[in-house]
Amino acid sequence: MLRCRDVGMLLYEYIEQRLEPSVSQQLEQHLADCPGCLAFINTYKQTMRLSSDLRCRDIPPELQQKLRSFIKTKLSSRRPSFWERLRSHLTGLL
Ligand SMILES: [Zn+2]
Repeated sequence: MLRCRDVGMLLYEYIEQRLEPSVSQQLEQHLADCPGCLAFINTYKQTMRLSSDLRCRDIPPELQQKLRSFIKTKLSSRRPSFWERLRSHLTGLL
């Protein structure tokens, strides 16, 4: 079973469809249960789409920074509090 930090590390390869089918499937299973990672991936995809629409290969600096700090928080967080808070926040919106 993948954890949130695994998703962060596999994200790029997943978007680029370079993952092994079995890994990709595990990632999708995680996304089905994890609104935080799902929202993150959707944001990332939107960012990629927007930046290509703008005929600019670079992610806008502001979003780049957001993504970076998101990944950093996710990968360095040993306490689950951040994810719990994000999850309950997202659950509250649904
Ligand atoms: Zn997750």
